[in-house]
Amino acid sequence: MARIVMKFGGTSVADLDRIHNVARHVKREVDAGHEVAVVVSAMSGKTNELVGWVQNMPKVAGSNAPFYDAREYDAIVASGEQVTSGLLAIALQSMGINARSWQGWQIPIRTDNAHGAARILDIEGAEIIRRMGEGQVAVVAGFQGLGPDNRLATLGRGGSDTSAVAIAAAVKADRCDIYTDVDGVYTTDPRIEPKARRLKKIAFEEMLEMASLGAKVLQVRSVELAMVHKVRTFVRSSFEDPDAPGMGDLLNPPGTLICDEEEIVEQEVVTGIAYAKDEAQISLRRLSDRPGVSAAIFGPLAEAHINVDMIVQNISEDGSKTDMTFTVPSGDVDKALRVLGDNKDKIGYDVIQSEAGLVKVSVIGIGMRSHAGVAASAFRALADKGINIKAITTSEIKISILIDGPYAELAVRTLHSAYGLDKS
Ligand code: ASP
Ligand code: MG
Repeated sequence: MARIVMKFGGTSVADLDRIHNVARHVKREVDAGHEVAVVVSAMSGKTNELVGWVQNMPKVAGSNAPFYDAREYDAIVASGEQVTSGLLAIALQSMGINARSWQGWQIPIRTDNAHGAARILDIEGAEIIRRMGEGQVAVVAGFQGLGPDNRLATLGRGGSDTSAVAIAAAVKADRCDIYTDVDGVYTTDPRIEPKARRLKKIAFEEMLEMASLGAKVLQVRSVELAMVHKVRTFVRSSFEDPDAPGMGDLLNPPGTLICDEEEIVEQEVVTGIAYAKDEAQISLRRLSDRPGVSAAIFGPLAEAHINVDMIVQNISEDGSKTDMTFTVPSGDVDKALRVLGDNKDKIGYDVIQSEAGLVKVSVIGIGMRSHAGVAASAFRALADKGINIKAITTSEIKISILIDGPYAELAVRTLHSAYGLDKS
């Protein structure tokens, strides 16, 4: 017997037939004798619709209130998950399974006060565990919790993944299965490279990089939580026949296991290629090279909530002037230029240059820690295709390369084959 948390995303619960199908997945695990808790997203498109309602509320003429109350936003957008948790509980009950729905506040899932992007602080798991022991299935509304102000709080878009992993950690589940509309995590985006392969296993650190660098399978925060609490997390498809052979396999179900690197015996040097579109590059030329310049640049950008990514500072030739280049999302470039313009005197630079529409392609793999020449192969492969590199950053387990937007797909395919990821 095992304890399993099963999470179903929006496309998996998009209509009543799919909810019925989800119930069959749950029934399979219950019938096998496992203790099960389920976490659900809203029906696909529902959260967007709810957010739209909040944003499109007509304003009183002459009102200068630019923002809506984030607590009411949460009260509204959290409702999508309330509906699916109730519907799935009914579907399960109709199959003879003892099930009930739980809203975040009923458990409670306690969060901080950051409405719209709250973090889970604590989950009271005891009651769920007790009821699982009696054979009851908890169907938990994802994406929501209870803030310290006693109000509903939501966890940011894609937050049901995080709900699921947090609940798995709280009830000490053996496994957290994230059911979605793809059948696992791939070496790269299969829409760009049809030869992309599904990974059997990927280490937490690698998945964290993949998710942060553009692979949209899981909310980044859920991977962080899984890593911290060592929750073995499976990404698998809800669209397969729930009763197909192997679907109930306890150790090797179909999908990708995100796990501790120790569990990965045959570690490849490179595990995957990720990419993030719509990056912009900003360069400050002839900055004075003195203590405090970086703080003078990045402090005001942080205050303006601009997410800065790759940062490259040149070593100055004469010890007096240097150049600084960094990237921001394309959507933030105007705001960033304004902030830097406002602070020109404090920072002390000559000119600003900027370019939008760039793409960051990243090579990821924990095997890089112990292998030389990984970066050199990437540069050679890109050079052979005539792709110019605009900036490079590296960490222990990744190399990120900034290139012109139109080369994105060619670069992804080139790197994918340079590391032999297209061969099994
Ligand atoms: N329904 C929420 C969203 O669309 C949360 C989730 O699905 O994970 O962002
Ligand atoms: Mg999702």
